[in-house]
Amino acid sequence: MREVNYIKILQHIKRNDGSTKAELTKHLDVSHTTINSYIQTLMDEGFVVASGTADSSGGRKPVILKINPAVRCSFGVRVSPDKVYLILVNFLGEKIDQVEFPYLGMDDALAKLKELIYEMIDRHSIDMDRILGVGMAFPGLVDMDNLLLEYIPNLSLVNYSLKDFETDLGLPVFPDNEANAGTYAEYLVGRDEKLESFVYVSIAEGIGTGIMNDHFLFRGKNKRAGEFGHLKVSDQKVRCNCGRYGCWELFASMRALLRDRPESVSEQGYLARLFKDYDRGDPQAVDKIERYVRYLFAGLDVILLSVDPSVIIIGGDLGDYAGKFIDIGVNKLGLTKYFYGYESVRIIPSNIKSNAALLGAALLPLEQIFRFRYRLNIN
Ligand SMILES: [Zn+2]
Repeated sequence: MREVNYIKILQHIKRNDGSTKAELTKHLDVSHTTINSYIQTLMDEGFVVASGTADSSGGRKPVILKINPAVRCSFGVRVSPDKVYLILVNFLGEKIDQVEFPYLGMDDALAKLKELIYEMIDRHSIDMDRILGVGMAFPGLVDMDNLLLEYIPNLSLVNYSLKDFETDLGLPVFPDNEANAGTYAEYLVGRDEKLESFVYVSIAEGIGTGIMNDHFLFRGKNKRAGEFGHLKVSDQKVRCNCGRYGCWELFASMRALLRDRPESVSEQGYLARLFKDYDRGDPQAVDKIERYVRYLFAGLDVILLSVDPSVIIIGGDLGDYAGKFIDIGVNKLGLTKYFYGYESVRIIPSNIKSNAALLGAALLPLEQIFRFRYRLNIN
């Protein structure tokens, strides 16, 4: 029998658009007693509701359980070096509202967020006790237990506390690393297929990775697991924001591809042009992108060797091009051909791309609350 938790149960019900106790018992490989007690709590709290009956081969018809999307909602925030994004989602992770504004420093961002959150609460007439909290995703090291942004080089933040913000806001705040948030979104809402263990690689300003291991985010002792972006992959004297040289994210993040961008051209415009040039065989574009892909796969090699996942999902701000990178790396350059570990791992592009971190941020309150507040000590 396997360990079970609320998130596993909710994920199964959500993915299948409804489930029965018998199905859950079978699928999660746990006892009827266990499923009964979990479902009882979920129903008592209104998270799960009975919604009709399924066919049965005899005897009483089994009740179909569904998630009640309106029972709770939560806010998600993503802070990037140029923009702050705010989303409001229901209990199924479906978007209710979304806004964004330019990032002009953390103090300013928090003041604006408070204003915008209360505007949304008014606009959608939300009861305060239905709000699970505000999840926040940052590109760096976050001590979620102490609401501390320990080290966010790309936002120039060191030991920045969110405690005053939480008190001032009057809602629980759940900060986490951007890649962990994205991983959580990939797990809960990113794909139709069942994913239990995978590594999510988020390519944005830097590179973040999140490790999902048997339905749980693997965080490590100091909650710093998966900082592969600062893995040393080159001897070149290029300095990273972390203070070291040759980090993976210098060569395989969005910055690597944007390095020669003239200021007059937008980032997206520059990338679109670069890939167009690549497709028509322009030697400079081919050289640049293929060099990039080789670096990307150099990091994937390390992930493969250290984590041994069954799936690697590539997404983030550069997610639109993930399919292309995978195709070039696997099919054109054959970078996975001679490596014994690659035949069993699937490398796939994210479906939610740059939205993963924001959506994941909104799902963080749910993860935290179900993991810690509603924990049953039974098996
Ligand atoms: Zn670094």
